[in-house]
Amino acid sequence: MNIPTEIQGFEDDLKLWRRDIHQHPELGFEEKRTAKFVAEQLAKFGCEVHAGIGGTGVVGVLRNGPGNRSIGLRADMDALPIQEENTFGHCSAHDGKMHACGHDGHTTMLLGAARYLAATQNFNGIVHFIFQPAEEGLGGAHAMMEDGLFEQFPCESIYGMHNWPSMPVGQFGIRNGALLAGGALFDVTVNGRGSHGAFPQHANDPVLAASEIVMSLQQIVARRFDPLETGVVSVTMFKGGDAYNVIPKVASIGGTARAFSRDGLEMIEKEMHRVITGVAAAHNVVAEFDYRVTFAPTINTPRETELIADVAADLVGEEKVERNHYLISGSEDFSFMLENRPGAFILIGNGEDTSPVHTPTYEFNDNILPLGSTLYAKIVERELAADSAALS
Ligand SMILES: [Zn+2]
Ligand SMILES: [Zn+2]
Repeated sequence: MNIPTEIQGFEDDLKLWRRDIHQHPELGFEEKRTAKFVAEQLAKFGCEVHAGIGGTGVVGVLRNGPGNRSIGLRADMDALPIQEENTFGHCSAHDGKMHACGHDGHTTMLLGAARYLAATQNFNGIVHFIFQPAEEGLGGAHAMMEDGLFEQFPCESIYGMHNWPSMPVGQFGIRNGALLAGGALFDVTVNGRGSHGAFPQHANDPVLAASEIVMSLQQIVARRFDPLETGVVSVTMFKGGDAYNVIPKVASIGGTARAFSRDGLEMIEKEMHRVITGVAAAHNVVAEFDYRVTFAPTINTPRETELIADVAADLVGEEKVERNHYLISGSEDFSFMLENRPGAFILIGNGEDTSPVHTPTYEFNDNILPLGSTLYAKIVERELAADSAALS
């Protein structure tokens, strides 16, 4: 692997930073300690530092040469509400909180890139190091954008990276177009008429209606989607009465929907509405339906996908870069930034034998820190090549 000597020189620091962040996990929008650490390091490298963007977000700005072209590199800082089961020395010091998605590693890799680029200055233009809060479903990307992220820090293109357990160390995966699904959460409240359990003729049974809604929703993916596209509708919550002999007045269901395009997410909403209203009418009950898109699909743009894949191939060899990675039904908050700017999101192998993300025994693999830092840095050196002044 082609890791620059500068990055090799501070590999031990990267490991120390990553483990320190791991030991002090903070949930979304509470990343005060992490943000402070990030801001201090960026300042030390010589970046202009802007803290408090979208709550606890931080942006470091590095300028070099006369060029005005700009790029954004993004990492996430938040941890998850999971009780860590690892027993190593740097495991979580905070009960019920854990870096179980590797955002400790993502933050460290981007800091490593900032340190390298600040020291080597082998680019012409402006780099924005974006450290976002609250990736795990709380809307950190939105918060930063609403706070003027791209107006204050214009980025012609943006890049992000996520570690991927099950992929060997030294490998990357990406695909043009959709890579991760968009997701929505939904709630359905079925209002009927309750009665004694022995006299159903006096009730409009919301439990039966809700049951039929659950079954009928499954026709959406099976019968409404183009068979070559894909989606998910999962009902994961079902609540009814609380007595054996009482038909309740209300039953409620909730769950998640996924699709790989905005159109898919909208189609699911429309179809769910039709099914729920129709089934409710058949049962003489009234259903309220709430559907909220919490993640956009993560959609990579062609030019930036090719650029990041080419940079990865230069580092690890073409055979170690899967350019047609399989679709992932999980979601990523970076998707909202990608709806605003051209860019790409790449997966970096965390090793085949590491636990999956979001599990209590997950651990970010320190061995990939220098590789991740190098990838980020080399994207900048290619996108803002030092001899590209004439283009700007
Ligand atoms: Zn996660
Ligand atoms: Zn994550």
